[in-house]
Formats: sequence, C-alpha cells, structure tokens
Amino acid sequence: MNKEKRTEIFRRLREHNPEPTSELNYTTPFELLVAVILSAQATDKGVNKATARLFPVANTPEAILELGEEGLKGYIQTIGLFNSKARNILAACRRLAEHHGGEVPEDRKALEALPGVGRKTANVVLNTAFGHETIAVDTHIYRVANRTGIAPGRNVREVEDKLERFTPKEFRRHAHHWLILHGRYVCTARRPRCWECAIADLCEYRHKEAAPAPGKRAAGANRSA
Ligand code: SF4
Repeated sequence: MNKEKRTEIFRRLREHNPEPTSELNYTTPFELLVAVILSAQATDKGVNKATARLFPVANTPEAILELGEEGLKGYIQTIGLFNSKARNILAACRRLAEHHGGEVPEDRKALEALPGVGRKTANVVLNTAFGHETIAVDTHIYRVANRTGIAPGRNVREVEDKLERFTPKEFRRHAHHWLILHGRYVCTARRPRCWECAIADLCEYRHKEAAPAPGKRAAGANRSA
C-alpha cells in the first residue's frame, strides 16, 4: 500500500471520529492501568461494570493493597481469569508503591516490569494516559492492518513496527483507537461490513463482503456504537 492511500485511510477515520478514546472507563493513569490488566480476554463492558464498583472504593495502589486479595476478588469475580488478574494487580500495586511513589511510571521499561503488564498494556497506557504515539496491536488492529494492507505482518510485533514506521506523523497519536474501533465495529472478524465501510475503496482485502440481501440482518447490525 502506498503512502497516499494510507494517509487517506487515516484521514477518513479521523473525519468519522476526530477525538477517539478508550471504551474503558477511567479517570487516572492508575485506573486505566488496572482496567487494561482486567480487560485481557474480557469485554470492555464487563470491565467497566466491575470498575464502576471498585474505583469509588479503591483507585490507588495503597487502597487496593488494603483491600487484599479476597477483597479485590469480590469486585472483579465477574471477569474471566480474575484469580490471576487479582494476584497480578496486587503485585503491580506493591511495586508501584515501593518503587514509584504510588504513581504509574511514564516509561516503557518500568511499565513492563510490573506484574501482568506486557508490551501491549504498556503501549495502551503510554498512548492513552500519557499521549505517547505508541500503537498497541491487539486482535482487532492485527486483523485490520493485515486485511487492508496498511501494515501487513506475520505477528503482532511486525505489525506494530510497520504501523509505527508507516503511519503518517499527524495520525500517530490516535491511530491505535481508530484502528481498534474500526475492527470492533466495522471490519469485524467473522463478517466484515465492507458494504458500509468508509475506506472500502482504499482497502486491499480481496474477499470483501457484499451487503446482506434485503430482509436479512447482518451480524452485529444491532451494535450500539
Ligand atoms: S472494506 Fe471490508 S475488509 Fe476492508 S477495511 Fe472495510 S470492512 Fe475491513
């Protein structure tokens, strides 16, 4: 894919949603960090439901340490893998309290040293909480980057590196959210909604989906976003 096409794709995604942001609810970098750890293999909606109860009670490392493992589990037990997530969050809180004065560090290495935090989570926090031009490649971005041809790659790191290299500077800050939202609601895994996709004429996917026949509902047609 050439530079002009890429630029036009991001221009259209921006036109559609000038200030995209996370669908996870948070008010501080620490709340975002906890929400992102909880969101692995879980829906944002499910995480928001749990954190709506948790954060008014405990939204600092110290407060969560005070809750303890059983106390924390009481708030997050509706979320998949909550046992290991609770242990990771508590261990991360301990490290934040001991090494970072209870603050979330604005530094990749320090973030990745936190239990339960890998490259993807660090990228989300750096981008969304601190405004860095990082692009966290999740399953949606991986799919969209490969299908469209914006940044094809055989693994998430290859896609991330290409997106960082090829995304025009003016779009880098929000590229992460534009691509995630496009993958979540339009370029869906099972049946991409190519017939109503704003970038269909630029996308290089060879198996574009046609509109469903009249009277037939398309998968995801009742989505709320
Ligand atoms: S045209 Fe289809 S495959 Fe291409 S980005 Fe749009 S929804 Fe995805």
